Amino acid sequence: MGQPEDTVSPAKGQLFIVSAPSGAGKTTLCREILKRFPRMRYSVSHTTRVPREGEKPGKDYYFVSAEAFEAGIADGLWAEWARVHDHYYGTSVRFLDEARENGIDVLLDIDVQGTRQMIRRFPDSITVFIMPPSPEVLRRRLNGRGTESPEAIERRMTAARQEMAQRGIYRYTVVNDDLDVAVAKLADIIHCHSPRN
Ligand code: ADP
Ligand code: 5GP
Repeated sequence: MGQPEDTVSPAKGQLFIVSAPSGAGKTTLCREILKRFPRMRYSVSHTTRVPREGEKPGKDYYFVSAEAFEAGIADGLWAEWARVHDHYYGTSVRFLDEARENGIDVLLDIDVQGTRQMIRRFPDSITVFIMPPSPEVLRRRLNGRGTESPEAIERRMTAARQEMAQRGIYRYTVVNDDLDVAVAKLADIIHCHSPRN
């Protein structure tokens, strides 16, 4: 026998976690996904890195000082956090809890270290690793974006190898070769795990 209707709580929002080596096209893919799923919310991370040209505070990231971020660690503000490329990055636990309670699906763009923490904390998260078609294409995209110095690009290429070696912890892998194909695959995964979208 089912529960009386007034005690049935609505389904919680689903968490969709996307990771990729820097330059693989995760930001581009996430933007396309958010256009297609207007009810989905993007988890805006907090970071101590400086904004890139065109990035907007509160939309792309909340840009905070290292002191504020470390105070957040002590106060338990982060559902997960990590140091990536010499900066702190973290996800607001309050934002995730509120969205989930209200049945709102959330898209997170976080790194592999953060994903490991999220899998422990929210084991029902849907995790997707975005792969570049090849290391050569990844290097070309990083160069083409024009936001990093040659040294920073080399550091990101080394980190990419380490991140790609850990893609086995993710439920799905999507290769971002043709953008439209990759968006369609990601959209299929979301539809499959959240029919309300
Ligand atoms: P990430 O967020 O993973 O660091 P970006 O979304 O910033 O990567 O993409 C890196 C660069 O590659 C950008 O200049 C972007 O326009 C380009 N790019 C992304 N996806 C594709 C694709 N499928 N084909 C060609 N170029 C792409
Ligand atoms: P970028 O500086 O290029 O925007 O991001 C660098 C890396 O940090 C990317 O791999 C991105 O997924 C990751 N990242 C962004 N926000 C978070 C976050 O809140 N937590 C974690 N763990 N990683 C994040």
